[in-house]
Amino acid sequence: MFLYNSATHKKAEFTTHTPGHVEMYTCGPTVYHFAHIGNLRSYLCEDVLERFLRWSGYSVRRVMNITDVGHLASDADEGEDKMLLGAKREHKGVLEIAQFYTDAFFEDCRKLNIKRPDVVQPATGCIDQYLKIITKLMDTGYAYFAGGNVYFDTSKLPRYYVFNAHEKEDLAVGVREGVEEDANKRSQNDFVLWFTKSKFEDQALKWDSPWGEGYPGWHIECTGISLKYNGEYLDLHCGGVDNAFPHHTNEIAQSESYLGHPWCPWWFHVAHLNTEQGKMSKSSGEFLTVSLLEEKGYDPLAYRFFCLQSHYRKALSFTWENLGNAQGAYRKLLKKISTLQEGGEVDSAVTAEFHEKFLRQVGNDLNTASGVTLLYDALRAKANDATKLAVLSDLDQVLGLALLDRSAALRETAQSQQHGAYTITGEGDDAVDALLLRRYEAKQAKDFQEADRIREELRSQGIEVTDVPGGAVWKRV
Ligand code: AMP
Ligand code: ZN
Repeated sequence: MFLYNSATHKKAEFTTHTPGHVEMYTCGPTVYHFAHIGNLRSYLCEDVLERFLRWSGYSVRRVMNITDVGHLASDADEGEDKMLLGAKREHKGVLEIAQFYTDAFFEDCRKLNIKRPDVVQPATGCIDQYLKIITKLMDTGYAYFAGGNVYFDTSKLPRYYVFNAHEKEDLAVGVREGVEEDANKRSQNDFVLWFTKSKFEDQALKWDSPWGEGYPGWHIECTGISLKYNGEYLDLHCGGVDNAFPHHTNEIAQSESYLGHPWCPWWFHVAHLNTEQGKMSKSSGEFLTVSLLEEKGYDPLAYRFFCLQSHYRKALSFTWENLGNAQGAYRKLLKKISTLQEGGEVDSAVTAEFHEKFLRQVGNDLNTASGVTLLYDALRAKANDATKLAVLSDLDQVLGLALLDRSAALRETAQSQQHGAYTITGEGDDAVDALLLRRYEAKQAKDFQEADRIREELRSQGIEVTDVPGGAVWKRV
């Protein structure tokens, strides 16, 4: 596949250390709050990339950390530990918060059809690994001890700003967030590998170390976890674009200094999801979650469809209207697929042609929008239904839109549901049917106020109800 590499600022043919196999690492969530749909855009694009690599014949080992310690309020070494902020906010223990939001994250991923990585490692589970790396960095002169903390010495590197196209912009972030300069640092770019004194007072989690009781910095966790599970040669490292600096820059600095050889040649960065107020972020502004989308009547897979229609390197603007349009298009697509008949001979020339086109088009820097267009082309192709279904099933292994399952469910449940003398015909949603049944019962009991309230509730979920003799027909509009 051809993939843009933010370390070289070029698109080139993707290659790996071991032919046919990809060692892949993804920076996981900081579990002090729910993931917002911006975070999930990054995970979704990374999921499609992983699926594509597997689909095109690679074996993949994908590793993800869970940040449950050490990520301070700014991405530099300033502010409080985010986990501690979460625990204080909710009057709970840090580990309790971590478990709760880790589970919530994977539940959101399940709803969005984002696969769980092969290895998921909470940062608090690998302290020995960080201590081993930091000890070697100290022994080899890449790290120093000052004011109670251990710092990485960036002046020892021939080149620190590896993602230098971001340099100006990123430095501005560094300057803004790092207002209070740490007097212990020999130079502004140095970063903490191990904290003891500076942020220590009410840090709940701390471990013994050769430099005193303390806790690891955020950047060392990804290096430690990746080296442990992916080995010394990583092929592909992923994250949102805000991770490029300082997080990924620092990961590279410490990993390569520790290893003594180049570490990861390919860097995949996903652009942000923005709202009308700007970048969606956990700490400020509008904060949209998967549960909120569901409460408002949106299908999480419609959000997946929405993300796939844009390119991962372009910022994506979120509005309810855009999401509504994507949901309408996704539903129409499912409806169309639900009319296809199974059975009959599959034309393997047609399936091979689509496979090849998808490989080429989506394999051009993960052009998922072209992949979606190919679904429509398949539906229009001069081929029988069995062939179309085979093509859709093949391409959906990468797109992950549950096309066949969802459309089969639609076909089955589009049939009427009989409730005594009352027949409900709709799109097969038990919750909607139950509301309609309650509305019917309210009407029977002459409680018209309740009946109207339920109709209003359904309308607010985008459901249109038509009363027909002996029942009701509903659809999402
Ligand atoms: P965090 O949980 O804050 O460590 O972030 C998890 C992932 O989401 C990281 O890869 C971030 O770069 C990414 N991310 C944060 N904000 C956004 C956004 N608005 N759009 C897309 N990705 C984001
Ligand atoms: Zn990371």
